[in-house]
Amino acid sequence: MGGPLLWPASEPWPYCDGPHDALGSPVSLEGVRLGRRIRAAALSRPHDNPRFPPFTAEELEIRRRIGVGCPWPEGPVAMLPAAQLYLRDVPLLHPPGQADVLQVLWCPFDHGNLFPQPVLYWRSAAEITSVLTDPPEPTAVQYDWYLPEPCVLHPELVTEYPNTLELSEDLQEQVGRWSARQAGKAIADSREAIDYAAGTDELYWNELSIAPGWKAGGWSRWGRTDPVAETCPACDSVMVPLLTIDSTEWDDDTKPSWIPYEDQDRTEPSASWLDPQDPAMIQISDGDTLQLYACPVSPSHPHTARVQ
Ligand SMILES: [Zn+2]
Ligand SMILES: [Zn+2]
Repeated sequence: MGGPLLWPASEPWPYCDGPHDALGSPVSLEGVRLGRRIRAAALSRPHDNPRFPPFTAEELEIRRRIGVGCPWPEGPVAMLPAAQLYLRDVPLLHPPGQADVLQVLWCPFDHGNLFPQPVLYWRSAAEITSVLTDPPEPTAVQYDWYLPEPCVLHPELVTEYPNTLELSEDLQEQVGRWSARQAGKAIADSREAIDYAAGTDELYWNELSIAPGWKAGGWSRWGRTDPVAETCPACDSVMVPLLTIDSTEWDDDTKPSWIPYEDQDRTEPSASWLDPQDPAMIQISDGDTLQLYACPVSPSHPHTARVQ
């Protein structure tokens, strides 16, 4: 996540011509990175809660200056690396032809739909003999949470199930009855048991159906809208989820089931400045997911994206 990418030195870097939503003040890339370094420095000192780093007065002043923003960039905007997935790590990518790498970049500005605009590239790693080592960068981003912090994925294979809204009424009732029975089996005095008894499908929702976090394949979370088929702009086929970019890897409700293996033994407060719940430091809309779709008929058909 967040680069660097295996990008051919001979291929032009992608730029976005917009148009962009001129809302608020952009933040310079330097400012975002400086702000993150300051946060890391503050968290390296003794603190009680990583969500409230012990900033010095000088650091607070620098943060205030960063927060003022910078001018809107003029001309085309260089795209930012968001993710790079290798087929060897994520076998269910179903790439076209001999491709074995999926690269996702995005324009770090809104285009009338409240998320950074993604573009996707499929590549064959063996064909890239000379790698671009110094890719161009935008001067600014619309929000600091549109700059993915470079970090490494540790993919796990999981099984998840559809949102209950995608199930038939009969199945929805069965899931509700099953969830209620499981709640009854839970330890009587646990808070979870009370919660699950109150909302009949919460056990299914939190721990079985939609895995939170960045993922390839799987189901859509829904919630921004009811389930609606994403159709291919080229051939009208129903598209399938390819990659989901999430604002958080898990929350308190989904943690028992979905926290990644490598994060389970972490103690709080974490000494790390990278929050294990959001290591890429990305936010999509209001804590939502950005789901990228692919056409199952042809990889040459355009990809689409929606927020859920
Ligand atoms: Zn753009
Ligand atoms: Zn299509």
